[in-house]
Amino acid sequence: MKKLLARIGVITAALLVVLGVVGYTQILGFTTSAEVRGKVHLVYNTSGFSRIGANVVAIDAGDAWVVFDTHLGPLAKGAFKQIKSLKDMPVRYAFNSHWHPDHSGGNAAFTDEAEIISHENVRSVLAGVHEGFGLTSPGSYREYKAVAREALPETVISDQSTFSVGALQLDAVHYPAAHTDGDLVLFVEQLKVVAIGDLVWPEGFPFIDVHSGGTAKGVAAALKDILRRTDNISLYLMGHGDPFTAAQLRDYLNMVEQTIEYVENEKTSGKTLEEVQAQGLPEKWREWQTKLNPQEEWIRMIYETL
Ligand SMILES: [Zn+2]
Repeated sequence: MKKLLARIGVITAALLVVLGVVGYTQILGFTTSAEVRGKVHLVYNTSGFSRIGANVVAIDAGDAWVVFDTHLGPLAKGAFKQIKSLKDMPVRYAFNSHWHPDHSGGNAAFTDEAEIISHENVRSVLAGVHEGFGLTSPGSYREYKAVAREALPETVISDQSTFSVGALQLDAVHYPAAHTDGDLVLFVEQLKVVAIGDLVWPEGFPFIDVHSGGTAKGVAAALKDILRRTDNISLYLMGHGDPFTAAQLRDYLNMVEQTIEYVENEKTSGKTLEEVQAQGLPEKWREWQTKLNPQEEWIRMIYETL
């Protein structure tokens, strides 16, 4: 009897472990990575059906890693481990593309080795109680707690700065009033890659965090400048989804510019936000709608920031 009970105990424990693992992967998925260009990896969390959190861009700079974005807090250790499993060397720099928690929430997992770098506005936002996207329903905002001092960026950029690791040169450039007011873009010309954070939402209209000083025209201006600084073989790595080619980025910019122009004309002609929303965008742009960013939301983000 005792033996039977012990066996049941072992089986139950094994079942719990299996359930725990299955449950964990369903909720958080697992961390994996893909080499998107020589020496450049995208590290992300996937449940097999969808990705959770943001991409971490990991660049092999020879004898150290450079990381762009640090993932959501609970997933950052997994991302850190994944990077180490690709090549066991220290992380020299970790940049935050902007303050949103899926991009800066994992800073603490990198601070032992890496110098955390962001735009100066990111550090001041993170240092206090702050408001931002709730990302649970269209247009939702929520409050976030102040970030612990040790997880705050220690190096801040006001306009642009160049860093080097070994022979690799990294140019970090601030684009004002775009997705937020603290967006950083990282140009790595030698590798023909540009990490652009959330200036693009690859599945649909871009998100503008109006509470954080973002503007639709700022996103268009940033994308235009990024294309001007790069060439046709460059690869653009976003905070979410798969990278864009130059042709894809040009198409995306065209959609952004045309929809802004449309809303601006309607606003100038005296229409209220509600009227423009009720009328909607011209048919050809509606396929860019997503569940979290339907056309009414994109119209609002443009209208309110013109
Ligand atoms: Zn964001």
